[in-house]
Amino acid sequence: MGESLLTNLPGTRDLLPEEVARWQLVEEKARGIFARYGFREIRTPILEATELFARSIGSDTDIVGKEMYTFPDQSGKSITLRPEATASVVRAYLQHTMYRGTGLAKLYYIGPMFRHEKKQKGRWRQFYQIGAEVLGSDHPAIEAEVVEMVLSLLSSLGVGSRLLINSVGCPDCRPKYVELLQGELRRHASELCEDCRRRTETNSLRVLDCKVESCQPIINGLPMMIDHLCETCRRHFDRFRDFLDRSGIAYELVPRLVRGLDYYVRTAFEIVSGELGAQNALVGGGRYDGLAEVLGGPPAQGFGFALGLDRLVMLLPEDVRGQAVNRPDLFLAYMGDAAFDKAWVIAQALRARGLNCYVDFSAGSLKSQLRLANKLEASHVLVIGDNELAEDRYPLRRMADSHQWNISLSELGTYLESQRARRTE
Ligand SMILES: [Zn+2]
Ligand SMILES: [Zn+2]
Repeated sequence: MGESLLTNLPGTRDLLPEEVARWQLVEEKARGIFARYGFREIRTPILEATELFARSIGSDTDIVGKEMYTFPDQSGKSITLRPEATASVVRAYLQHTMYRGTGLAKLYYIGPMFRHEKKQKGRWRQFYQIGAEVLGSDHPAIEAEVVEMVLSLLSSLGVGSRLLINSVGCPDCRPKYVELLQGELRRHASELCEDCRRRTETNSLRVLDCKVESCQPIINGLPMMIDHLCETCRRHFDRFRDFLDRSGIAYELVPRLVRGLDYYVRTAFEIVSGELGAQNALVGGGRYDGLAEVLGGPPAQGFGFALGLDRLVMLLPEDVRGQAVNRPDLFLAYMGDAAFDKAWVIAQALRARGLNCYVDFSAGSLKSQLRLANKLEASHVLVIGDNELAEDRYPLRRMADSHQWNISLSELGTYLESQRARRTE
């Protein structure tokens, strides 16, 4: 008791209409750009069997160990609010045998994910991701295409970014490298932080992720996967880089960029944005050819990414935010009952033509109606009074420059349509 019912849960938030307009702008851009690349949307359930995530994300990770919203449902089955969507998409791909036919599936998703993270600024327990997965191909060109697709989404939104890439090897070359890495780490055990000492034995690749200052000199001297790739991995990575070069995409090779799970192979990438700092990648992605089998399915190659939508919206530059307003084309201000009736009819006719019209119902003074028009950022205000009704000429004010002139109803619709077309060009 004691917690107010009038407050949302910690780590969640209400997105209010002004904010949602920005989210819709990003989502519409994503849908448009992804369609150009042949991607189609998939919507998987938010609830899945706990085991799906325990297997795919790994039970010794923070996500599965500490952060999942897991509970028994009424029948006693353990279910979880999805902490990410790749496993769900791969499950759906296998369940619906989408590998039949051409074999290639290009899928994207947009939606909420749930992790009970420690309270931290800019981190939400219900957060949103946009992601895409290509299943059924191990072609390096498809990797470059996916990277290009997400970069073009970011640039269309005016968000600056840097692409970081690496290869994490494969089951042929990685075990030998990990052995070499562990040898080095054991030699330096006394100089490493506690986490790194533990990870040396449990998941030594993750040591490369360590952010503790005193570990950095040791990590910088460690052997890196990129120098120990087998011939197949080396050739794959060279071709991936070649496709990036041909698309004119700049990148930085970051040998420390790793993935902690065995099913990740070859290409890994991240996209960071200057404003977020290096620890906060905006996009993380890579190849996960082993995942389908981890889930108990037939082998299926996969490559994809997830983008943090909350962070992306935060990074939108001012001019892009300005586009994301669902403002009325016309606010109809009225004085008196006859004028109200007329406003109502005009609004109906204009809405039928696809225009956004707003009529206030609180019957306030003209002044208070104009205040509301300003607040709603209406593009134009039409004032209807008794004189105007008699003459069928109405003062129309363009709010951007306060220019005002008289217009007849027959001219009004055509004028507003032309203004709207200019704005959406
Ligand atoms: Zn290899
Ligand atoms: Zn460390």
